[in-house]
Amino acid sequence: MIDQLLKGNSQFIAGEFKPNKKYYESIADRQTPTVLWIGCSDSRVSEDVITSARPGTMFVHRNVANIIAFNDVNMASILEYGVVHLKIADIIVCGHTRCGGIAAIEDGVHENYIADWLCIASGAKDITDRIAKENKLTRQEKLELLTVENVKLQIKHLQNLALIKNLHAKGKSPRIHGWLYRVETGEINVLIDGRTGRSAPDLIKIENRGAGRSAAKSRQKPVKTSRKK
Ligand SMILES: [Zn+2]
Repeated sequence: MIDQLLKGNSQFIAGEFKPNKKYYESIADRQTPTVLWIGCSDSRVSEDVITSARPGTMFVHRNVANIIAFNDVNMASILEYGVVHLKIADIIVCGHTRCGGIAAIEDGVHENYIADWLCIASGAKDITDRIAKENKLTRQEKLELLTVENVKLQIKHLQNLALIKNLHAKGKSPRIHGWLYRVETGEINVLIDGRTGRSAPDLIKIENRGAGRSAAKSRQKPVKTSRKK
């Protein structure tokens, strides 16, 4: 595998870097990404590959189950650098189907650090447990709903960080988007449209399918994000 990666680098230089030398020279001087991507560490969810984005377009933070913790200095420093210094106006929080972290939240996990980390998403499990019970969801439906509820919860965490709260109070960006990537089809569903702060049709579709019409209807409240469009 290591040799394959190094060979891949030579292919990248020949097939992408050299033919686009001007672009790569420009980003060698200075990076100006316009999106901050917060996603899962899962090897199948490579943000630039699944969005066909070039190097230089996204500032990235990935961890197990795309969690935003208020006391995570790593996350906070990326957020501060991205939003304050790089002036990034759009943050995407992207969950994904078949997520091992989400399955561990559902099934319980006993490893020390992983269990502590996933505790931060326990609010999403409480909501999902209730909806799953009321609507007799299958395991697959429940895991998908838990993934979606986790994205929504982590967006709330993000909005409650002082840095973001203060920017939003002044009517400034960042806009916060919630996405779901489907590893089985390669498709991205938009859950929260950060430009409007509202639940996107994809989220409404998932909630209607997974949680029953009445439950979904009562949960279609807009998620508050930046007032700046
Ligand atoms: Zn994952």
